[in-house]
Amino acid sequence: MYVPPPTLQRIAARTAHIGGGIPVKRLLPVRERRCIGAWCFLDHAGPATFAPGGGMRVGAHPHIGLQTFTWMIEGEVLHRDSLGNEQIVRPGQVNLMTAGRGIAHTEASLPGERRLHAAQLWIALPPAVAGCEPAFEHHPALPQWRLGGCRLTLLAGGFGDQVAPTRLHSPLLGLELFSPQGEAIGLPLDPGFEYGILPLAGEVHVAGGRFAADELAYLGGGREAIGLDLAPGTRLLLLGGAPRREAPIIWWNFVGDSRAEIVRARHDWENGDARFGRVAGGGEPLPAPPLPWIAA
Ligand code: MN
Repeated sequence: MYVPPPTLQRIAARTAHIGGGIPVKRLLPVRERRCIGAWCFLDHAGPATFAPGGGMRVGAHPHIGLQTFTWMIEGEVLHRDSLGNEQIVRPGQVNLMTAGRGIAHTEASLPGERRLHAAQLWIALPPAVAGCEPAFEHHPALPQWRLGGCRLTLLAGGFGDQVAPTRLHSPLLGLELFSPQGEAIGLPLDPGFEYGILPLAGEVHVAGGRFAADELAYLGGGREAIGLDLAPGTRLLLLGGAPRREAPIIWWNFVGDSRAEIVRARHDWENGDARFGRVAGGGEPLPAPPLPWIAA
């Protein structure tokens, strides 16, 4: 497998808007970087304060071919899906939804909630499982430990002797570091993975560069270890994974290996096909935007 060489690429966030008008910083995909391993989408929402009744309001929408991975830092969000799951995700918790052949869901800040700070990531499913049955998992707690004064939380994959409970289909790492006081630390890496680091707050010196919140440091692969110098109050995500041969096609809320799959999924959603089911209490389904491709 091709592993990209060690490198340092600086990726600036672009601002996007999600339902409810909350601005988010989007780091993946961008023109210069499609994925980190199977991590193929990365939004940093907040930290934001809003009036009661505001916050995140994403109506019923479909997904295929991916897992949605929600890591809450502040605030509470209610997830409802077409499998009948209804689950609040709170700070320190993960909601992991496997879309497979098709699922629909809604996400909304709780009534009375004033804060939102979260990372939402998508994981592209490998072709062999892209059409699997949909599923949903809630993880109320993740492995957590200290390294010096730094608190580490393992969101996905394995690190040292820790293993995250999140069910994945590709070799991946998701690790959050939080350093209240600031410090320099070293972490072992897998040379067969490519990696990226995203500060969510504060700033970090890594690989000879300085990265502030919402600047993604893409580190490539082939590294046995990495040194991080974190400013006080820094919170960051370390994401890694085995490089994919090709970036998947992402359009709207769909991930696929061909345009035909995506065209079919859009058609099925627009026609109320049973593959996506219905979200109870989910209101009007969100319409799909027009396809960017001329129909074949
Ligand atoms: Mn979604």
